[in-house]
Amino acid sequence: MERFTLAQAAEWTKGETAGDAVLTAVSTDSRRIPQEALFLPLAGERFDGHDFIGKALENGAAAVMSHRACEEYPVPALYVGNTSQALLDLAGGYRMMCGGSVVGVTGSVGKTTTKELLYAVLAQQFRAEKTEGNLNNEIGLPLTLMRMTKDTEVMVAEMGMNHFGELSRMTASAQPDYAVITNIGTSHIEFLGSREGICRAKLEILEGLRQGGAAVLCGDEPLLWDKRDSLGCTVYTYGMENQACDLVAHLHPDGSFTVINNGLPSEMLPVGGSFTAKLSIPGAHNVLNALAAASVGLLMGETVENIRTGLVSYTASGMRQNIYEQNGFRIYADCYNASPDAMEATLGVLGTMGDTGRRIAVLGSMLELGDYTEEGHRRAGRAAAEHADVLYAYGPSADAIARGAEEKGMTAVHAFTDQNELVEKLRADAKPGDALLFKGSRGMRMERALALFLGEE
Ligand code: ATP
Ligand code: MG
Repeated sequence: MERFTLAQAAEWTKGETAGDAVLTAVSTDSRRIPQEALFLPLAGERFDGHDFIGKALENGAAAVMSHRACEEYPVPALYVGNTSQALLDLAGGYRMMCGGSVVGVTGSVGKTTTKELLYAVLAQQFRAEKTEGNLNNEIGLPLTLMRMTKDTEVMVAEMGMNHFGELSRMTASAQPDYAVITNIGTSHIEFLGSREGICRAKLEILEGLRQGGAAVLCGDEPLLWDKRDSLGCTVYTYGMENQACDLVAHLHPDGSFTVINNGLPSEMLPVGGSFTAKLSIPGAHNVLNALAAASVGLLMGETVENIRTGLVSYTASGMRQNIYEQNGFRIYADCYNASPDAMEATLGVLGTMGDTGRRIAVLGSMLELGDYTEEGHRRAGRAAAEHADVLYAYGPSADAIARGAEEKGMTAVHAFTDQNELVEKLRADAKPGDALLFKGSRGMRMERALALFLGEE
């Protein structure tokens, strides 16, 4: 982090100071206080960081922020209205002081993958930073922004949300130069009412777009495409189904794809130009994510060669979108999270994997779907019927997944509420050469089912 003063922090947060200090770190954890740190106490549901200010001071905090105007501290202090908002404001001021570009990435699904692809692409040519892991909320985002330095040329920041207003606050902090919306799905529909509501909530990201900045939207989503001329900012679109987008791709049978520039202003790839690229991760949905990354790369003046190199360099690992062979099975592990849109996309990939045996979909329930629970799971079941030969459904909504599959005439359908029982049946059923997809919400722990299946646990 770059050096800043408490007085600057006060300006950014519109707070009042008692004393001044030179700072080179911000910590929200009283147990981990680096040198020259501002301790920033956050008030959560169970704890209030203000109760740990004493601890932070013991651990060497150089200054504290507080929204308890009544308290006095033995170190310089910054009094603000609300520390959560002040964290966002502080990060916003700091981000502008650093001066690099920010690419904000939101969407119902594909944020992390697109963020990683963007970073892989942009880091070929720029000093780039990115959100670590999935730290995409109103705490993770500002902490991410404060990892920038004056050397950072571009920060790729993931922004997630469940409610209206969250992205408004985050984008006011990040002040992105480019705002990417990967997709409008159905995640968190219980809070946002409808897909139209979800779309409006995602579009909040544009409120903070900097002058001269641009929105980069997935034009395969009609809700985004139809609004593209009425958003009050420069908009570029990418897509595969919608060939009218500014950047489009054609898929080839070997998984590579040709990217064609229909309308992006790029000196590196003039309109009408094209190039062929490849990814190391499976699925047409990831080609869309790659188009988002290529769009921003081209807009920022990156060479086609660097974009191609970046795209293929990103490899998934562990639980995420990972395809490998083990014990004679082809395993497609995607146990990190799930939503109906992601289920459909990954089942589409499974559908292409049946060349040596059967395609077996092992699907855990999806959490947080609210009123959409029954229909969301049925949709997953219908997609399983379309793309898989056998279905193993697990968890509280296993029966709804099974109902969806049976609606579409699938007969090899098994539903379980007990994971061990599922694995036992699956082990007896699966044969070498079969391709198996393991997918479900994080809470369903499908990675455990996979490990048990492979005899690793
Ligand atoms: P989270 O809300 O958990 O942060 P996310 O938006 O970051 O999720 P990813 O982690 O990138 O999303 O991807 C989640 C899953 O969604 C992937 O494992 C994949 O199955 C699917 N997916 C990724 N990109 C797309 C896309 N563009 N369209 C549909 N599904 C996608
Ligand atoms: Mg994510």
